[in-house]
Amino acid sequence: MTETKAEQASILWWVLKNKICNEKGEVLDFQDRLFLLDILTDWTQNIVIKKSAQIGGSLTFNLKALFAIQNLGFNVIYTFPTDSDVQEFVSSKTNKLIQANPQVFRGMNTDNIERKELNGRFLFFKGTVSKTAPIMTSADLLVHDEADRSDQQTLETYQSRTKASRYKGRWLFSNPTTEKGAIDQQWQLSDQKEWTITCGMCKAEQVLRWPDSIDLARRVFQCVECKKEITREERRKGKWVAQEPGKEVSGYHISLLMAPWITADEIIKDSEGDQEYFSNFILGEPYSPGDLRVSRSTILDNWTPKDLQTQQWYLGVDVGNIKHYVLGSERGVVKVGRFSKWSDLDDMMKMYKPSLVIDAMPDNTMAKYFTENYRNALMSFFQDNMNNPQTIVWWGKDKKSNIVYSSRDRIIDQMIDYILNAKMLFGVASDKELIEYIKHWETLRRVKVVNNKGIERYCWESTTGVDHYVFATLYYYLAMLSRGAGTFFPEVRGNMLPVLINADNVMGDIGAVITEANNWQ
Ligand SMILES: [Zn+2]
Repeated sequence: MTETKAEQASILWWVLKNKICNEKGEVLDFQDRLFLLDILTDWTQNIVIKKSAQIGGSLTFNLKALFAIQNLGFNVIYTFPTDSDVQEFVSSKTNKLIQANPQVFRGMNTDNIERKELNGRFLFFKGTVSKTAPIMTSADLLVHDEADRSDQQTLETYQSRTKASRYKGRWLFSNPTTEKGAIDQQWQLSDQKEWTITCGMCKAEQVLRWPDSIDLARRVFQCVECKKEITREERRKGKWVAQEPGKEVSGYHISLLMAPWITADEIIKDSEGDQEYFSNFILGEPYSPGDLRVSRSTILDNWTPKDLQTQQWYLGVDVGNIKHYVLGSERGVVKVGRFSKWSDLDDMMKMYKPSLVIDAMPDNTMAKYFTENYRNALMSFFQDNMNNPQTIVWWGKDKKSNIVYSSRDRIIDQMIDYILNAKMLFGVASDKELIEYIKHWETLRRVKVVNNKGIERYCWESTTGVDHYVFATLYYYLAMLSRGAGTFFPEVRGNMLPVLINADNVMGDIGAVITEANNWQ
């Protein structure tokens, strides 16, 4: 069979003719990923993909890069945020891809992680944060995987590498972070293609969007016009429609709403967890929270003259020269106050027998003492869960079973959401201490911070540093979570459970409490 010139240059023809396999050795099948076909065959010089997690984007671009060096004679520089990302990706994806298709990539070695050669053309892999010097050689195409989580300065620097090329390609793709990230900036300059589907009933063409395209009661995808349930098949068969036609950059937005293998139920569950994660990794959208804060009126709105006491007490203690505490039940805060002698805390522990969460910083000697001498006492550490970024709260195991870990800014988000939804009431005396308590909350601001790699995220900061009652409240809230409290109230369950269940190392009686709460109607 002789190939025409067009066929030789067609990546789709190349994939089909060679029966290209994925990294697992299965013949590539775009059945459920029709949305990747246009992306695979798009050779626009500037491409941007704003995407959710796990949709096969990296594999698609890897394949394109390999095709480009083999069939178009390109030299390609392919970057990831760090060298260890390169290491992991090349060994688990690229090398497996090369090995799964030996007849196509004959002669391409898999030993050298950073450099692949075929017919005198090169594919370089490189971390944007790297111990070694950047790739100095010139290239025809730059591919920036996880662009928003890469060093932004380095991405800029690489642009000079394509000066000598006629093609000068630059493809960026990533989960977006914020509106100021590289992906969203480039997206704004693009033709902004959205996957557009057609309702089988009323024939309305529409883009699947959260929350309009999901019926929360029926837990199904729905037509935004006639409300008919949108089937898996209808979501699968869409087409890309540019919202800003004529722009030079070719842009695609991929969300998990268009992935036919994802159910409405899964989307709803994800929407109840960490909002930043939900935006970035599920919707493929930057995270831009509104003016989220707890003000004086929020607390006064939640204030009640009712007695909030139940059988259970929860106590949060913020540690400093002066210790601040928040004591309450699962219905809300009953008492707030300060003490300076540790024996005062012993007295409270004996009197209320609360579940305690105490700040482990700045010095954990006393925090340790309380976790060792009282039942249901934990100390709090802030940490990001690297294995599972969606997990906001988790509990230590074995020797660390006296520790509750949480992701600082995300757990504050969650607590504030809880307060704004009036799930935490304030049944405290309306006195000077309440005024002081409110003051601490009013210093809290949500600010966008940029780390040294140029990556943005939202953090909570106090304008004065006097925010002890905020953290005492947070420890009280964690004490409730540690006992599975809050989950027993129907109006709260939807909010709390996903987080607890996602913590895959939730263990012991907490697990039992969750199981119980799940069965509880
Ligand atoms: Zn319809």
